[in-house]
Amino acid sequence: MEIINTDIAIVGAGGAGLRAAIAVAQADPSLNVALISKVYPMRSHTCAAEGGAAGVAGANDSMEYHFNDTVSGADWLADQDAVEFFIEEAPKELTLIEHWGCPWSRTKDGKVAVRPFGGMKMERTWYAADKSGFHILHTLFQTSLQFPSIRRYDEFFSTDLIVQDGVCQGVTAMEIRTGEMKLFKAKSVIICTGGAGRIYPFTTNGAIKTGDGMAMAYKAGIPLKDMEFVQYHPTGLPGTGILLTEGCRGEGGYMINKDGYRYLQDYGLGPAKPEPVKKAMELGPRDRLSQAFWHEMQKGRVVETRYGEAVLLDMRHLGEKLINERLPFVRDLAKSYMGVDVVDEPCPVRPVVHYMMGGIHTDINTATSIKGVYAVGECACVTINGANRLGSNSLTELLVFGKKAGHEAIGYIQGGTAPRDEADAEKQGEAAEARVKGILNRTDGKESVSVIRRELNDIMEYGCGIYRDANLLTEACNKIAELRDRFKDVQIKDKSAVFNTALTQALELEAMIEVSQSVAQSGLARTESRGAHQRLDYPARDDAKFLCHSMAHYNPNAEPRIDYLDVVITKSQPQERLYGAAGEAMAKKAEQEKQEKQPVAAAE
Ligand SMILES: Cc1cc2nc3c(=O)[nH]c(=O)nc-3n(C[C@H](O)[C@H](O)[C@H](O)COP(=O)(O)OP(=O)(O)OC[C@H]3O[C@@H](n4cnc5c(N)ncnc54)[C@H](O)[C@@H]3O)c2cc1C
Repeated sequence: MEIINTDIAIVGAGGAGLRAAIAVAQADPSLNVALISKVYPMRSHTCAAEGGAAGVAGANDSMEYHFNDTVSGADWLADQDAVEFFIEEAPKELTLIEHWGCPWSRTKDGKVAVRPFGGMKMERTWYAADKSGFHILHTLFQTSLQFPSIRRYDEFFSTDLIVQDGVCQGVTAMEIRTGEMKLFKAKSVIICTGGAGRIYPFTTNGAIKTGDGMAMAYKAGIPLKDMEFVQYHPTGLPGTGILLTEGCRGEGGYMINKDGYRYLQDYGLGPAKPEPVKKAMELGPRDRLSQAFWHEMQKGRVVETRYGEAVLLDMRHLGEKLINERLPFVRDLAKSYMGVDVVDEPCPVRPVVHYMMGGIHTDINTATSIKGVYAVGECACVTINGANRLGSNSLTELLVFGKKAGHEAIGYIQGGTAPRDEADAEKQGEAAEARVKGILNRTDGKESVSVIRRELNDIMEYGCGIYRDANLLTEACNKIAELRDRFKDVQIKDKSAVFNTALTQALELEAMIEVSQSVAQSGLARTESRGAHQRLDYPARDDAKFLCHSMAHYNPNAEPRIDYLDVVITKSQPQERLYGAAGEAMAKKAEQEKQEKQPVAAAE
């Protein structure tokens, strides 16, 4: 097996991976970086992000507001020390990438424009029309090209971490072009492999989002944290799951039901009036909006489309000029995939799986429980998103924590690493190769990848959807255990070495099963409702028992062991989550209390 020696291997070349690579290259050009990605970097999912990236901008906003929105949006399950670090760094990173070439949209007087986003009580989402992720990823990619210490391995599929006595020694990856396994011997590995939305059948996520890196870390002994929290985005196109960005509502779009009624006013998200639209209930958080859809469905107030039930996103009142200027891509998507011109008619939409709040457990510095292994981006849980991520925090998270991970990896290497047992590392590499070859060469298997994958998708939607209960989750757990067992008997027809997508899909399915099991088991164990995890049988939030992160520990032969880790609370004690008028009254009261306290502090 070919051995590639490097200092740092970064798995994943989306926003998180590229930002980490640039951070290393800038801070210490003497360190070699191997940037491994199963697709060409610009095909990473970050490219699909539309709406924008959050960071305090402008005089009306403050770090405190961004902190409060993020923590309450997370239903108090975010680690507040991580959130504090994140919001402080956010505007710096967004400004930095502008200097690298990111074309943020502008106001008439030339300042960076910000748009409102769900759950953010202030306008703080920086955007580049409705192709923000594309521009961010392009900016990072073109910036990365100037550093000779970054060596790219495009279309290399990573399979296993190499670990000795709890210390990272590298990672294996199959070159998809040749089918050959390579062993990357590295002192540090940064996992940036993105989310796992594809475990569900109906998702905004690109086909590559199969949780490979999560499964790789999990199998190496790193727990997966808060996996039960799966975000549904309220405005996906029926049928395809293609996203219409939250920017549609940020710009003033309405959510209406079959009677043309703005139904969100019935779900504690504030009155339809008074305007301005930008403070209206459509800008509630994603979990609440998706749950409201479920209730509308129960009440029979949804519209029927040929792809099932939906509600309507109405943007007619915004006018053609604004739509063309701020939401041109949305207009295109609705036309192409639904045959609807949003300038003239409302577009059918429904909740769609969008984002995993959970992921590889890291501390505030992106470090995992294996020395030298770091994780960043959607595959990781650092955790600023808690039980419900606010839209536009994720793109910024990639930048802030990508940089952090790069610097941490440098610090770790500079601190000196223990000598590697080269023979053992190679043996582990060969074992990884044998496992992959085992799947490729099997001729007596009775199971097919597509069948298991479809059954997995179906049970995830059925058992671990917007609302769950003990029966549904138990059914899901049992079915996933069965599929995990059946996977051992999977056979693929294509036996060729070159660009064998049947093989990569089998490897992806293996990861998806592990990730799904952690989602269902963590969901079953959490007998409360919080954020995106809503239990019909336990409808209340239970802070006494569950103000803590769930940690799923891999077990090769049975379901994962679940235990819990305390949430870090620095300054915001859990309260009721209030939006709309009630939310504003709460914020005003807090502000008043702060003002009242200030003179005393000054006197001291
Ligand atoms: C349609 C859509 C719109 C969104 N809009 C927004 C938005 O407006 N604002 C916002 O904040 N967030 C948004 N999000 C969320 C956000 O875009 C993602 O969470 C974020 O981009 C993930 O970045 P990442 O770098 O972690 O992973 P990705 O960009 O998904 O990249 C993952 C990388 O890992 C590599 N990889 C994966 N598995 C392997 C393997 N086995 N071997 C080798 N390489 C591997 C891939 O090749 C890829 O390079 C959106 C998400 C979607 C799906």
